[in-house]
Amino acid sequence: MQTIYCIGELLIDFVAENQGSDLSKADVFTKKPGGAPANVACAVAKLGGKSKFVGCVGEDPFGTYLLDTLEKNRVNVTLAQRSKHFTTLAYVSIASNGERDFVFSRGADKKLEYDAVVKNGFKGNVVHFGSATALLGGGLNDAYDRYLVDALAQEALISFDPNFRGDLWKGEEGTFIEKCRHFVEKAHLCKFSLEEAQLLSGENDVEKACAVLHGIGSPIIAITLGKKGTLLSTPDFKRRVASVKVEPIDTTGAGDAFIGCLLYQIARLKNPHQILDDTDQLVPMVEKANWAGAITTTNYGAIPALPEYDAIF
Ligand code: ATP
Repeated sequence: MQTIYCIGELLIDFVAENQGSDLSKADVFTKKPGGAPANVACAVAKLGGKSKFVGCVGEDPFGTYLLDTLEKNRVNVTLAQRSKHFTTLAYVSIASNGERDFVFSRGADKKLEYDAVVKNGFKGNVVHFGSATALLGGGLNDAYDRYLVDALAQEALISFDPNFRGDLWKGEEGTFIEKCRHFVEKAHLCKFSLEEAQLLSGENDVEKACAVLHGIGSPIIAITLGKKGTLLSTPDFKRRVASVKVEPIDTTGAGDAFIGCLLYQIARLKNPHQILDDTDQLVPMVEKANWAGAITTTNYGAIPALPEYDAIF
């Protein structure tokens, strides 16, 4: 089993209890661990895989809570950093007009310092870049760019999920697209939502979007389509892999469960790069990953809802 390095943010989501009112009216919040790359690390570890989280939290009780949560889920956090800056916090509510009302207090996640030791573990392993906040700048962005160079030099299998958040990039979408395209160019595998595939390719039609994205670089593309399943695209074939019928109650983290489960299976290969030579193996892997995504929607929250090995295999 190879190791999956998950690089990016770990933060607290304070979710308003009285959904349907905007944040100015919300008075009770529930503290939840957040951050897509950290969710992916948990998804891998809950399936029994080896994941290491690379990111930064504050030297405060929230930072302790977040790292404890990862450790309880069997994620290796020895490469995580603590900063004197407070842990990054996001306050979220669904307002009366159905839009997400969102306040983001960015702290320690952007203080991640590049550590040359990290790259020593990359060889023969998988490196996953999940970028909701990473591309916004700060030390995390610098570290992110340098780890990409390292991952290429160490011949790691590189995975990328843009994790686009419209509220974070309002008015700056062009910068987001430019930064993401650099990762799409270098990655071996990319996971997109339909919105991300359209945004990064400039094409509304999903087939045309795939062609543009392959043209930029990534040979393996998975576009997750919620209950409509996943469009898997490689240079050899394009296939829609059906989703599993469930009664969803909370879709948070379904995409992270999906990519975590897919990477877990790739990391079980003797050499993760084998997946590039025999892409047919991807179809049953994506079927399993769809299961992981579907199961995650049947429970509340991201990390608690991620499935264990026996639920999938
Ligand atoms: P998020 O950003 O919320 O983590 P996403 O947009 O990246 O999600 P989705 O497409 O919502 O990802 O979900 C990932 C996968 O999970 C889908 O490809 C599908 O297999 C499964 N899934 C998600 N929603 C449902 C659903 N309602 N019913 C069945 N399967 C689902």
